Amino acid sequence: MANLYQKMNAAFHVGKHRIAIRETPIPKISEDEYLIKTKACAICGSDLRWWSREATNEIHGHESIGIVVDAGRNATAFQEGDRVIPYVIRGCGRCAFCSRGFYIYCKQNTGITTGFAEYQAVPERYLMDVPGCFNDEEATLLGDNLGTPLRALRKASVEEGETAVVFGLGPLGLIAIQGLLFFGAENVIGIDVQKNRCDIATELGATLTLDASTVDFHRQVFRITKGIGAHVVINTVDAADAAAAAFNLLRPGGRLILIAGNCTGYGGQGELRGRAERQIIGTFYFPRTDYEENIRIVRSGLINLKRLVSHVYPFEEINEAFEMRFKNPDKCLKVVIGL
Ligand SMILES: [Zn+2]
Ligand SMILES: [Zn+2]
Repeated sequence: MANLYQKMNAAFHVGKHRIAIRETPIPKISEDEYLIKTKACAICGSDLRWWSREATNEIHGHESIGIVVDAGRNATAFQEGDRVIPYVIRGCGRCAFCSRGFYIYCKQNTGITTGFAEYQAVPERYLMDVPGCFNDEEATLLGDNLGTPLRALRKASVEEGETAVVFGLGPLGLIAIQGLLFFGAENVIGIDVQKNRCDIATELGATLTLDASTVDFHRQVFRITKGIGAHVVINTVDAADAAAAAFNLLRPGGRLILIAGNCTGYGGQGELRGRAERQIIGTFYFPRTDYEENIRIVRSGLINLKRLVSHVYPFEEINEAFEMRFKNPDKCLKVVIGL
């Protein structure tokens, strides 16, 4: 396949809110790697962090799907033509965490995010097989966008009959809504400041949605729970004030799961002490070992991925795709770029 190793198009972050498609060499694969031809890559909410900064001059994108087009000598598990997703948190491969597939805990881990490029080189242990029943756009959601909220729900140890609140109804929050119902929560309350997102949460099964731009959601949650508060709150909003507001919806013994928010400036520490036994649990991405079970959950039909993809843009329109995703939250959900 010597002729393959020429140039490819890749999207480089060249300035604040600016991406340029440029030619760059196709990555060379080592003996343990596969060459993947990228088919699609979705924009993640966390992409806002680099997109709003000055130029990183890097290729980004960590929710991609592709097909195997070449393999190193020791890479034998996949065949040419197989559809695969790269797992993007890469560990040292030798520590106790890596040996169990918990690359997320490895001290030396790093995120390899090159999904906005025509080709990617990926080691065998970081490739996940994609069943044929998912089209390329849906499949971009099978890694981060499905794995992260399902990881949060497993850490929340949701029990039958509990009341749960999802703070933030973007693509992660909408999976969390559906996952909570799957895990047996009885009342699932969604909160967002965008009416369109509240409407989709209702359509996907939320018991109640509260538009925080017009409703006193704190009061409503306590009204519905007879003054006690929620068993579980899942926060998907990446802001310190969101984490504090989410914490304040918990009943004694309740669990706040932080998917995205960091705790900087978080004002609820006082409530953590004493007798109320409330917990804050941090989660990050998902362990590689969750993937097969996550696929089984989606295939059960109780989680709708298709409904979450609102826009598909061609690669040449990647700047328009980012503008849509981050400047028009009232018009979009998951924005996917086809390559
Ligand atoms: Zn992401
Ligand atoms: Zn390691």
